[in-house]
Amino acid sequence: MSYVVGIDGGGTKTTCLFNKPGSFSYPGSDSAFIVTGEGTNPQSVGFKTMKERLRRLLSNGLSTFNITAGDISAVSCGIAGLGSSQDIKHTEKIIKEIFLELDFSENLFLSVHSDSFIALYGAIPEDKEEGILVISGTGSNSLGIINSGEFFRSGGWGHFLGDEGSGYQIGMHALQHLTKAFDKRGAPTLLTEKILNFMNWDHLMEVRNFVYQHKADKKEIAAFAKLVIEASEERDEVAVRILKKAAEELVLHVESLHLQSGDFHKDTPVMTAGSIFENSAVVMNYFQQQIHSRDLGVISPARSTPVYGACLLAEQLLKDNRKVR
Ligand code: BGC
Repeated sequence: MSYVVGIDGGGTKTTCLFNKPGSFSYPGSDSAFIVTGEGTNPQSVGFKTMKERLRRLLSNGLSTFNITAGDISAVSCGIAGLGSSQDIKHTEKIIKEIFLELDFSENLFLSVHSDSFIALYGAIPEDKEEGILVISGTGSNSLGIINSGEFFRSGGWGHFLGDEGSGYQIGMHALQHLTKAFDKRGAPTLLTEKILNFMNWDHLMEVRNFVYQHKADKKEIAAFAKLVIEASEERDEVAVRILKKAAEELVLHVESLHLQSGDFHKDTPVMTAGSIFENSAVVMNYFQQQIHSRDLGVISPARSTPVYGACLLAEQLLKDNRKVR
């Protein structure tokens, strides 16, 4: 039996969905299997680690679900951090090496994209030729399509240059507010106790070693976002402010796509993806309200998840008969 495989590589985790083409099912059914592994954004972990993790994930999936490599007919990946065509080509080469190592069929179809592309592809309503997708997970990004093929992007610059409104930025703002609260330059916040407990720190001074000596990475900083969300649910004003600021940044992405294209209008579907939108009511509500009140589009439910979007792309490769190696 042949399978298509979709991969959604994020900054914190990577999801891989094995699906039977033609009759796509969601995980949990007899014909769809899902495995998850560590983050694979090459701009954060490097291409070498990205390769090791993708290889491990694919091989785990095969052995867990008792699928042989020869049963896979097409693979589509969307990976965070892939912006340039050069990076996409390099990743294609790396994935082909994995296929050789794992004994995949020579007649396999492959396509490699950014994670925002698979998310948009999976999210856009079937009858629509245009739409805007905003991701806020470990990182953030936005991508819009118009006239079925013209793309516009805002964001995607990674955590040193951008990632506004992302889990990373929310986490970093939380740490910065801790230091302000400690100095009494900022309001006291529940975040202080939550972060000390979460990190098992005796004293706030430990934050310095965590950032400068241990060199906390993007994923470790983004992990604080869930504490900010928790504190916002307990009505901590600092936490709510951090999350509203994040939502405002995500709205700016949509505004930027309107400015770039000039053709998006107030009926353009606007969809969201990523753990921050999924878990923070403050972010989601503020975002939705601003999109509506600024006439930036119509908030629409995503048709499917990003990894499912990758499976749809893999199936499309089979239909188009686009062999890549
Ligand atoms: C990456 C983007 C990605 C976004 C969302 C950012 O850090 O640079 O490529 O789309 O995170 O995952």
